[in-house]
Amino acid sequence: MLQQVNGQETSSLPYGNDPLSKDLQVFLGSDFQLAELDDLTKVNPVTPATVLKCLQERYQVDVFYTNAGCTLVALNPFKPVPYLYCPELMRDYHTTPQLQKLKPHIFTVGEQSYRNVKSLLEPVDQSIIVSGESGAGKTWTSRCLMKFYATVANSSASQETHKTVERIEKRVLDSNPVMEAFGNACTLRNSNSSRFGKYIQLQLNRAQQMTGASVQTYLLEKTRVAYQAPLERNFHIFYQITKGASSSERLEWHLPEGATFHWLPNSERTLEEDCFEVTKDAMLHLGIDHSTQNNIFKILSGLLHLGNIHFDDSEDESQVCQPQEDAKCFVTTTASLLRIPKEELLETLRVRTITAGKQQQVFRKPCCRADCETRRDCLAKVTYARLFDWLVSVINGSICAEPSTWTTFIGLLDVYGFECFPNNNLEQLCINYANEKLQQHFVAHYLRAQQEEYAAEGLEWSFISYQDNQSCLDLIEGSPVSIFSLINEECRLNRPSNATQLQTRIESTLSSNASLSRNKFSKDTNFIIAHYAGPVQYQIEGMVEKNKDPVPPELTRLLQHSQDSLLQKLFPSQEKEPNDLSGQSRAPVVTVVSKFKSSLEQLMQVLHSTTPHYIRCIKPNSHGHAQRFQAEEVIVTMGTSSLFFLPPSPPPSPSFFLFFLPPPLSSFSLLIFIPPPNLTYPLQVLSQLEACGIVETVHISAAGFPIRVSFQSFLERYDLLRKSHPPQPRPSSRLPSSSPTKEHSGQQATPEKDTVLHALIRDILLTLPPTAAT
Ligand code: ATP
Ligand code: MG
Repeated sequence: MLQQVNGQETSSLPYGNDPLSKDLQVFLGSDFQLAELDDLTKVNPVTPATVLKCLQERYQVDVFYTNAGCTLVALNPFKPVPYLYCPELMRDYHTTPQLQKLKPHIFTVGEQSYRNVKSLLEPVDQSIIVSGESGAGKTWTSRCLMKFYATVANSSASQETHKTVERIEKRVLDSNPVMEAFGNACTLRNSNSSRFGKYIQLQLNRAQQMTGASVQTYLLEKTRVAYQAPLERNFHIFYQITKGASSSERLEWHLPEGATFHWLPNSERTLEEDCFEVTKDAMLHLGIDHSTQNNIFKILSGLLHLGNIHFDDSEDESQVCQPQEDAKCFVTTTASLLRIPKEELLETLRVRTITAGKQQQVFRKPCCRADCETRRDCLAKVTYARLFDWLVSVINGSICAEPSTWTTFIGLLDVYGFECFPNNNLEQLCINYANEKLQQHFVAHYLRAQQEEYAAEGLEWSFISYQDNQSCLDLIEGSPVSIFSLINEECRLNRPSNATQLQTRIESTLSSNASLSRNKFSKDTNFIIAHYAGPVQYQIEGMVEKNKDPVPPELTRLLQHSQDSLLQKLFPSQEKEPNDLSGQSRAPVVTVVSKFKSSLEQLMQVLHSTTPHYIRCIKPNSHGHAQRFQAEEVIVTMGTSSLFFLPPSPPPSPSFFLFFLPPPLSSFSLLIFIPPPNLTYPLQVLSQLEACGIVETVHISAAGFPIRVSFQSFLERYDLLRKSHPPQPRPSSRLPSSSPTKEHSGQQATPEKDTVLHALIRDILLTLPPTAAT
């Protein structure tokens, strides 16, 4: 309660004098504990400040999950909370009839999806879309949900099927450590960062037992094999083999104790993720036997040796570059581990072959040192990427059930969150494009659809505005012209790429799109896209080359000549040559963005055919500290007003910002922003909430109708009540219903039946808690 002390307002409330808390307390009353608000729709008024404060209060008392209407906000605890994920709790969520009475949890979402599959006449596939920035807890959440399904799906198995179900579940769960070993790495933002996107479908039979699963992956960050940003690491698997190999394995893989590898930075520290045994065991359970594992690790070791090959400059252009003196042994070991001829390896790295003329004459052109090293890196990237894809296909072969054995699936989507770094290139463009697509899916499914349905049904409703990102998507992928199409065209023309030219084309053809702008003060060629989560400046330099993702045909040929049985599978000799820088390839160029766009379109189609559930993971602070909630970057408080300050992108050096406050507060504040070393831009909680449209979601959920049920399923569920409780006339109340009523039911509803049903719905709604959902 606010009190008057010496003519001034003070607060006797537990939240102190912070104006944000005051707002909320005034509306809620002093006795109300913010931490007890399970659903942000109960916060009143719904503003970014009040939502933020509510989450903060909950976080401070170790409450990490909060409903936000149709979505679940999951705060990363950054500390072990085993009691939250124990099997007993899983079973509680699975067996409690009124799920909504339990505390918000990822298990509520998991169980709701599970019940949806069961409760409907026709099985409807479900998907759980887990989003959030790097380190927010997406992979953790997906893993926990997989364990949840393994636990609950098994509990319904009969004695005979129990063992089979258990075996399948074990395999499905074992796919995680394997994929994480090969696809995750320690970055500045997360020590176990997924460097690929993943959509896993858990396949269920009519009895709701898990009969298998399938995995689809997206855009592995293969450049990491040959380049790691300062203080970051390569994929975990490389550290696992160098740290965990037995002495005989070390001998066979040429990995003596203490050997140093150029592509293995920051290996002094041992992470939890470096456990080789776990990966090997999981691989074995997935059917990858010891001998195949041995092949895989030999190839990986070969790549590490390849990374140690450095060249000296050649004396003149007609001469090939020589490997540096101390790198010669690495040429030998790489050739021996990859089982390719040493001379051919050297020739491939150092000489470009060009086929020209009607006679298809072959010319040899020695590469300069930089080109030799680019070819070396390319060899490593293409080998690793194919190995990863092969592994995913083996995992799928091992966990995927026969189509006849399952009827529905629950899909878990764990893809990289929105990214904004000091330098953003094609990778960030693709990642942010994926996030735009998912945001559009959310908007279409929830924000727009719900309001349109209310309008169509003639319900009283004042429209709540939300950010529609269609113009941003048009800019990136639209037709006939978009950023993607312009970058693709540059690749097709196969001319030396010119960033300034591309920048001019982007500006001249797309300037009418309000989501596009340019930083005129930057010395780099660039464009800025106003994403729903904030503006991102992209560098144009290098984009076209990355989009081509060129693999010189000689590299593929070299690997096709390997005696190693696994490399022979990864590079079959009859395959068409992939994208070729020199344009000699006979196959049409398939660019990175075209490939990514089509895989994303397939994903969106799948998502559209399912009932979606959203979990928004939030990173409470950028340091991974427990109990620390970084609401905003800097808050300047003046009188009762607060300014949130978040520079649009991290300034590279200490920067000064001047704020002028309008009358009557006329004054100014000077802020000094000193970026920490190796700053990658942390999106603080407020901007993370903004990025996923939480406030709009809460607004619509709070104002909207809590229940949506077709007459058909309503009748099936509550027909019993009609017999025991004849309907009483009641004063009219707002009636939620799904739009397809008679059409959906497939029955001819008579006026009499309609009246009965309407009355019943009213009866039941009056007895339900306000947030109960079907
Ligand atoms: P990226 O996009 O980089 O892959 P992510 O969103 O998948 O990030 P996670 O790897 O799931 O992030 O989580 C980062 C770390 O946060 C985990 O390694 C773990 O230490 C911690 N963490 C996340 N969720 C939880 C949780 N529910 N309980 C305890 N710790 C957690
Ligand atoms: Mg992850």
